[in-house]
Amino acid sequence: MQFSDTFSFQSLHDELSSQGILILRNTQLRERNSLGFAATAELSCVIRSAEQIPPLMSAVLSAGMPWRVLGGGSNVVLPAHLPGMTLLMEIGGQAIISNDQAATHIRVGAGVNWHELVAWSLAQGLPGLENLALIPGTTGAAPIQNIGAYGVEVSDLIQSITAFDCTAQAFVEMTPDACQFAYRDSIFKRQPQRYIISAVAFSLPKNWVPQLQYADLTNFFSAPKNLPSPTTIFDAVCTIRQKKLPDPKVIGNVGSFFKNPSVSQIQLAQLLNTFPRMITYPQGNGSHKLAAGWLIDQCGFKGAQRGAVGVYEKQALVLINLGKGTATELLALASEIQAAVQDRFGVLLEIEPVRM
Ligand SMILES: Cc1cc2nc3c(=O)[nH]c(=O)nc-3n(C[C@H](O)[C@H](O)[C@H](O)COP(=O)(O)OP(=O)(O)OC[C@H]3O[C@@H](n4cnc5c(N)ncnc54)[C@H](O)[C@@H]3O)c2cc1C
Repeated sequence: MQFSDTFSFQSLHDELSSQGILILRNTQLRERNSLGFAATAELSCVIRSAEQIPPLMSAVLSAGMPWRVLGGGSNVVLPAHLPGMTLLMEIGGQAIISNDQAATHIRVGAGVNWHELVAWSLAQGLPGLENLALIPGTTGAAPIQNIGAYGVEVSDLIQSITAFDCTAQAFVEMTPDACQFAYRDSIFKRQPQRYIISAVAFSLPKNWVPQLQYADLTNFFSAPKNLPSPTTIFDAVCTIRQKKLPDPKVIGNVGSFFKNPSVSQIQLAQLLNTFPRMITYPQGNGSHKLAAGWLIDQCGFKGAQRGAVGVYEKQALVLINLGKGTATELLALASEIQAAVQDRFGVLLEIEPVRM
């Protein structure tokens, strides 16, 4: 059902435009999702300031229409039609808000491009985010799945989050504990209809220590004369990522399509018995992560094609749009992969991007 079947677009438009909030109809989102799927938002609103959110959400919630937030669209699988309201997050601005002996504190608008923020922080002489260079998307989306790469998770550096709580219909300041961060997870991912993040504050520690424990970085800096600087690590991460991952502007993708599954010590021992070359990472809590890409590769999917979608030939964890692919086709391929991995290894792969 179209939202506009049950509610007058004109009355919503008039109500909100009197408050300076512009509602658009039938917005094309192909350029706003990194899979490059054709998708149309029935209604959309570009959010450039936090003040727009309360009146917009009051109207959206009282009309009972479906809604969602879209940042850069680099971790979503979009259907052809998105009913109701799509908030296009574009709140800008980043600033140093305070300094103490231990850390520098910065506050960043939810619509700020993540990679540009990492580059900006280093240009200010503030290290800490360099391992997370070149992750696509917005700063407001970074806490949603607690983005992580090369041994660092964004939650390691988050001080607080400002979000509009749609249940209380008020802005809240959330501590990292309240965000319930975990591996590619947070309260925001588990309760997608509750919070709209408008700003993120980071605490960048002054006693910076390079994080080089991840194998790719350890190898890159295998024989350094001096300890690498934050900008050298930033450059290394960009170089490594550009070699491994397809550029979404050229080949539509959302990065890793599945999370690395976690198994117990007992399960691991059984698996290693049958598959001694399996790639595993100890978690320090008795559990172990398995490399999802390795599992998929072993099932023969690397480079596979199904209609207009496929598996990237250099990295089996990345599913791609070959041109005219759709969410239905991609999710069918994902199910086929899940079934094959479950059948061969007895392990369930969980899909990482958000299906809208
Ligand atoms: C080539 C490539 C490489 C990648 N590499 C990594 C990686 O190394 N590590 C990693 O963790 N991820 C990676 N990703 C995934 C993705 O870049 C991140 O998850 C990123 O944070 C998504 O940001 P976005 O703005 O595009 O979010 P979107 O895709 O627009 O949205 C993702 C989810 O967040 C919600 N959301 C977005 N903004 C807000 C907001 N302000 N308030 C409330 N909810 C919001 C959306 O509703 C949706 O549920 C990669 C993706 C690609 C394409």
